[in-house]
Amino acid sequence: MPADTVSVTGWGRTAPTAARLIRPRTYEEAALAVRDCGARGGIARGLGRAYGDAAQNAGGAVLDMTGLDRVHAVDADGGTVLCDAGVSLHRLMEVLLPLGWFVPVTPGTRYVTVGGAIGADIHGKNHHVSGSFSRHVLSLELLTADGEVRTVVPGTPLFEATAGGMGLTGVILTATVRLQPVETSWMSVDTERAGDLDDLMARLADTDHRYRYSVAWIDLLARGRSTGRAVLTRGDHAPLDALPRGTRARGAPLSFRTSSLPAAPSFLPGGLLSRTTVGLFNELWYRRAPRARTGQLQRIPAFFHPLDGVPHWNRVYGPGGFVQYQFAVGHGREDALRRIVRRISERRCPSFLAVLKRFGEADPGWLSFPVPGWTLALDIPAALPGLGGFLDTLDEEVAGAGGRVYLAKDSRLRPELLAAMYPRLDDFRALRTALDPRAVFTSDLSRRLHL
Ligand SMILES: Cc1cc2nc3c(=O)[nH]c(=O)nc-3n(C[C@H](O)[C@H](O)[C@H](O)COP(=O)(O)OP(=O)(O)OC[C@H]3O[C@@H](n4cnc5c(N)ncnc54)[C@H](O)[C@@H]3O)c2cc1C
Repeated sequence: MPADTVSVTGWGRTAPTAARLIRPRTYEEAALAVRDCGARGGIARGLGRAYGDAAQNAGGAVLDMTGLDRVHAVDADGGTVLCDAGVSLHRLMEVLLPLGWFVPVTPGTRYVTVGGAIGADIHGKNHHVSGSFSRHVLSLELLTADGEVRTVVPGTPLFEATAGGMGLTGVILTATVRLQPVETSWMSVDTERAGDLDDLMARLADTDHRYRYSVAWIDLLARGRSTGRAVLTRGDHAPLDALPRGTRARGAPLSFRTSSLPAAPSFLPGGLLSRTTVGLFNELWYRRAPRARTGQLQRIPAFFHPLDGVPHWNRVYGPGGFVQYQFAVGHGREDALRRIVRRISERRCPSFLAVLKRFGEADPGWLSFPVPGWTLALDIPAALPGLGGFLDTLDEEVAGAGGRVYLAKDSRLRPELLAAMYPRLDDFRALRTALDPRAVFTSDLSRRLHL
């Protein structure tokens, strides 16, 4: 199979490393690639939307799974799909929405693969209702280090190690996923502003249960009494009778339309995001949001994936790239969340993409990220002076509060904090050692964190 040595990074474009990129087109080719991946091992890669170093493998092999992208069967009555792991959620939406079905969980981009969704056990705006992606996986086929293809079902150790296992138990070849029924491809959305962090948390705690989807954009440059001010958007799939009669929307309620602006330029020497531009953006964004608006109809891409409308938007941070820092702390540890938000605001991190969400129940995956409580995610330019040391202190605060950092976003966490963050880490390591004693499945992330 042809393999080019290329430079591979995550979506944040930090820490590029060179690897042999192999693109299997059949399951047999995938098995051959695993068998022949050599001493530095191999790792599966989907659409490369993990921000950090999870889907790269310095000096080894990277298996680009997007060549295996068939939708094999849709059960339009029962609401399940069987597909290859290289299929994107975008493709699933194209196929499933006209049939009245939606993916059970979508992250903030639909350009992720089913394999990546299981590998990171991704969560969406509906975590408080629906849990993470793997909760909706009925079974999967996993190519393991010994060359076997195993059918793996929920409730087994191998499944719980694979859900959120960052590709380190093997290569997912196919999955059967339970779907969400919808009457339309529209969302009915309520928007409101919260004046500060406590106001925001109170609104989320009091009324999130009324909404299937909920998320808050938070202004991390606001200080003083406005620290943590936010715009809260929540909603649900619009029922058919919410679409006005006689409109195009009502005539084709399940059509899936996307649109795209021009791509961000490939070279922006200093990036576009300074404290001044981000401060202005945040001010505008907050002020132009309605104080309170209900029942606005939005298309699925506008509600879930606004960033997908600007191809390669990650270039706006310039060649230095950016770090996405996402952590979670449990209920009862709001003090830690408040302290961290205050510290980020005081540090004046130019972050225009910062979201706060309230998680529901924890998921069964041993390395799944969500804990019942709160999660904050923010983008920060990697070139910000002193960033590494600053984030190290936040890691300590998070770990001290019994919280954790999300591995799908990470490129810099120190290994010694990992066990405190993920209590099932030893089980994960033991299963890996038994299943893959030669550590065939290896990534830059797994080396860095001794996974
Ligand atoms: C704009 C944006 C918004 C995002 N929003 C969210 C969000 O709201 N919630 C959330 O949870 N995440 C979010 N993410 C992160 C993203 O959902 C995850 O990183 C996801 O894993 C990316 O999928 P991918 O196909 O690009 O996988 P990659 O980034 O290529 O790989 C991610 C991991 O999955 C493993 N993997 C990929 N394919 C396979 C396979 N076939 N078999 C085994 N392992 C595999 C890889 O080894 C790697 O460890 C966001 C990312 C972006 C860029």
